[in-house]
Formats: sequence, C-alpha cells, structure tokens
Amino acid sequence: MSDDTQTIMLSALQHYAYCPRQFALIHIEQVWAENYFTAHGNLLHERVDSCEPEQRGNVRFERSVAVKSQQLQLTGKLDLLEIEGKPATKYFPVEYKRGKPKTEDWDKIQLCAQALCLEEMREINIEEGALWYWQVRKREPVLFDETLRGVTLAAIKGAHDLLSTGVTPPPTDNKKRCRACSLFDLCEPDTFRRDYSQQYVEKMFLELDN
Ligand code: SF4
Repeated sequence: MSDDTQTIMLSALQHYAYCPRQFALIHIEQVWAENYFTAHGNLLHERVDSCEPEQRGNVRFERSVAVKSQQLQLTGKLDLLEIEGKPATKYFPVEYKRGKPKTEDWDKIQLCAQALCLEEMREINIEEGALWYWQVRKREPVLFDETLRGVTLAAIKGAHDLLSTGVTPPPTDNKKRCRACSLFDLCEPDTFRRDYSQQYVEKMFLELDN
C-alpha cells in the first residue's frame, strides 16, 4: 500500500465496491446522508452489537469482533464469529445485512476482507463464512476461493489508491444503482455526468486544435 498511515474501515470497502464515487464522497469529502436503508442497517448492527458471547455445544459465538490487518491496512468489526472446537479447529465469520442476497459481490467482498484480517491476526486459514439477510431471513454461505480473494484484494487496493489521490471520480453510468444510493441528493449524478461529458467534448476539441 502506498501510505503507511492510511487505514481503511472494512465497511468502506462496500462503498467502494458499490461505487468508487460513493466511497470518495464519504471517505474523502466526508459527506453522509442517512436514508431508510442505511438507518435500518445501523439498527440491525446495534442489535447484533448488544449481544454477549455464548457457548452452545462445541461452538463459541463471539459478537462484534474487532479485526485489523497491518498488511492490508484495514480495520473494523465483524458481526459474528463462530469458533468450533476446543482448541479451535474452525473459524466461521458471519455478517448481517438488512436486504436480500445480491448478484453483485459487494457484501461478499466485505466478508472476505474480514476473513483476510482474521487470517493475518490469528495465523489461520478460513475457507468459508456466511451472509445473513434480514429481509429474507436467510443465511447465504460464502466460499473464500481464489476468485473472491482476488476481487477483494483488488477492491482494497482500489480504495487505497483512490484515497491517496484525494480526487472524487465521476458518477457511475449505472443509473439503477444511483436510484438506490443514500448519497443521491448530495452526489447529483445527473448534473455531474453532464459536466463531465461537457469537459470531455471540450478536451477533445482542444486536442484537435493543437
Ligand atoms: S448517486 Fe450514483 S454516482 Fe453518486 S455516489 Fe451514488 S451510486 Fe455513485
């Protein structure tokens, strides 16, 4: 990573994976807006945070576990860690989400990054974890295979690189994503898309003139 003092929150990776501009608005420009989705997500995590660790049979359930990685310059919490056996033979991270399973990798990237932190901290290997979706009350298994690890490492690098530049990128072309975005009003994607395309045309004419 380019800057030794630059640590990223695990939750920020999801912002980056959703839209690099959203990540930049929140983590570079420090703007934030709470809509129904984020408010509900926060409530869900508060509920998870309030629970005590417990032992059920051969499995210990630890909640709201702090994790970090020196190597990847990441820090944050994971909602639930299931630890099987005494001494431990299997670690299984679980992240709670308010919505339902997605085709995109955003949630999986955050969970995989949590696993990477745990692996570094405890010198272990974690093969899988799960995402629990409130809306459908469903637990979705996630395999930490080479592909997901690669996508996750790319997102971590991308987020660090963007933070280093300190420059907010243009809006995504994915308008559907914008409509569900908590920062829509602050981002003004349509206005900025027009500005960026105007700048692009002006730049092209400038290059043709020279
Ligand atoms: S409104 Fe669209 S472009 Fe703006 S941050 Fe959200 S997803 Fe990204």
